[in-house]
Amino acid sequence: MHTTALVLFSGGQDSTTCLAQALSKYQRVETIAFDYRQRHSVELQARLKVLSEIRAQFPQWASRLDEDHLLDLAVLGQVSETSLTRDTAFKMEASGLPSTFVPGRNLLFLTLAAALAYRRDLQVIVTGVCETDFSGYPDCRDDTMKAMQLALSLGMDRHFLIDTPLMWIDKAATWQMAHDLGERSGVDRGGDALVNLIIEHTHTCYLGDRVHRHAWGWGCGSCPACELRARGYARWLETRGGIAPA
Ligand code: ZN
Repeated sequence: MHTTALVLFSGGQDSTTCLAQALSKYQRVETIAFDYRQRHSVELQARLKVLSEIRAQFPQWASRLDEDHLLDLAVLGQVSETSLTRDTAFKMEASGLPSTFVPGRNLLFLTLAAALAYRRDLQVIVTGVCETDFSGYPDCRDDTMKAMQLALSLGMDRHFLIDTPLMWIDKAATWQMAHDLGERSGVDRGGDALVNLIIEHTHTCYLGDRVHRHAWGWGCGSCPACELRARGYARWLETRGGIAPA
């Protein structure tokens, strides 16, 4: 039985939903993020706000939410030339992958997360990677996750489970998952509360825009991350007959 988890928590919609799921499932949950000089480094402030709002609004989860860790990964910015680490346009590369793909990023994140989980005695590593509505990132694939789980478990001689709650669902279903988790959190009208927390405080936009506010949250509205978030939110609202959370 797994009771402890480390969540890769960037402060976006997906990782916040994963954190909520971990808090509803495991007894002790820690969080980790990486500063790799991302253009949208505003997410590093957003995530602290999300953590404090979760503690304030969801008391049953607050008691399970343990330490937060921020690791410096400037070396990733030194080795990669991508739209997330340099001021270059979002486009498709000759490889067929978007220019936002940072080679090795998730592999490094998982390796460092496992090293930290080893020290902190955490059994499960939770990550919001997804194969369904994704941008074609090969390091978000289920096969990659299974291979990493095996490599990390063998290489550290400790059985790690990599938990990927969003792997087979789309963005509309991710909003619904957040709502369902909030409903079961023990907080009155917790579903709407968690969705509203995600809308207001999480950060997804690749450009780091916290100026423009939309029904689905803050962002430029036109980068690939904003488009995916906006489309998912619109589809989710349709399933609710157009009724926005109160
Ligand atoms: Zn954007």
